[in-house]
Amino acid sequence: MNALGRHILVEFYNCSPELMNDVVHIENSMVAAAETAGATVINSTFHHFSPYGVSGVVVIQESHLAIHTWPEYGYAAVDLFTCGDSVDPWVSYNYLKDAFEASHGSAMECRRGQLNLLKRNDFNLESLRDVSPRPEEKIGTITRDVWFTERDENIALSLKHTGDQLYKKDSPYQRVEVYETFAYGNLLTLDGMVMCTQKDEYVYHEMITHVPMFSNPKAKRALVIGGGDGGTVRELLRYEQLEEVTLVEIDELVIEACKLHLPETAVSFANPRLNLLIEDGIKYIKECENERYDLIIVDSADPVGPGEGLFTAEFYSEVYRCLTKDGIMITQSESPRFNSAVFVEIYDTYKKIFGAEKVHCYLAAIPTYPTGTWSFSYSSKGEAHPLKFDVNAAAAFSKAQGLKYYNEDIHMAAFALPNFVKELLNSKPGEVTDEYSAEPTA
Ligand code: SAM
Repeated sequence: MNALGRHILVEFYNCSPELMNDVVHIENSMVAAAETAGATVINSTFHHFSPYGVSGVVVIQESHLAIHTWPEYGYAAVDLFTCGDSVDPWVSYNYLKDAFEASHGSAMECRRGQLNLLKRNDFNLESLRDVSPRPEEKIGTITRDVWFTERDENIALSLKHTGDQLYKKDSPYQRVEVYETFAYGNLLTLDGMVMCTQKDEYVYHEMITHVPMFSNPKAKRALVIGGGDGGTVRELLRYEQLEEVTLVEIDELVIEACKLHLPETAVSFANPRLNLLIEDGIKYIKECENERYDLIIVDSADPVGPGEGLFTAEFYSEVYRCLTKDGIMITQSESPRFNSAVFVEIYDTYKKIFGAEKVHCYLAAIPTYPTGTWSFSYSSKGEAHPLKFDVNAAAAFSKAQGLKYYNEDIHMAAFALPNFVKELLNSKPGEVTDEYSAEPTA
């Protein structure tokens, strides 16, 4: 060969859109395509972007294989670069065409480093040789960097995972997936959005339950809408005083996935005290009798997909109707940083239904949620106030239950809000964009 390497630029057309969005399949296929061609794989790095698309590279001793996919077009742009002539990149081409179920492909081969255009340098190459003592390299082990990424157009959260997807199923409502991440244990995602991880789920579930429970110690009946991972009802079932804990979850695949792969979060599904209903929470609350519950927790995902209806004034009015006279509604109310406009809108809705003086916001630090700053709303139908609680009882409970986040100090501090959040809470819908600065645009 009169060149140093062969570089093939490939266009694969009409690939399976599913496969074009499947980071695990793509990474495995690219590594296998390299190995099938006889290359020596050094490492692989792949990113899955939400809502869709995969970028990745497999570094080989003979150079690299790289890809970017457009699932929406069923299209993959691939480049296969192998130096020397021991590896035939066309073998990788044929492997990937089948692996991606492409109807056809086009490719252009460039000869890289044409020898007749190169002149060997006469300096002492030995001086370039890397002789530094290298840690014992485990020859033949591939370091795989496969990333799950949740992002919008401005920010992203990436979690590296093992590349082996533990669970992936489509329900009538959403795609349910579980990844095994290195830093946060198993990760549940719904439609590509982080829901909870084994390592930090306790923050959200302790804060969404113990704050209202200690400010309404007479609560007997609690309802959770959403919450199919089981973390919220796990925390509620710590209270012997609760005669009823009802969970209304629309998607039984979420429960199945968590029972299999986040068992400590799903532990309560085996609890006989739990009243589990697999149905639409919007329909349930409409048919629920007046003043039935002391506590209603709306443990929804983001205002998209089946969860969209859990963010409407109509839904919250039904929740209000189903609360006892001293009842409390708690919702996860998004991030004041990540969804400022939604944040302002939903608080405006809560105030219209419960009265401004009865609505409070509190924060918690949840590392795997976009921006890490997450909020909860506390809306009281009667006289319950979030900061009127038995501090000693909360301290004793936190200790006795071995809670990892909630305690009496955190309970108080969570309601101490930064100025930018106060400004958002005093804003009107439409006054705030989702830019970082909370400066009203009006
Ligand atoms: N608890 C999690 C956490 O740590 O942040 C996130 C929320 S939980 C996974 C959200 C749940 O709400 C999902 O299981 C989803 O299926 C459920 N859901 C969405 N819309 C619903 C509806 N209309 N009725 C009942 N459940 C719903």
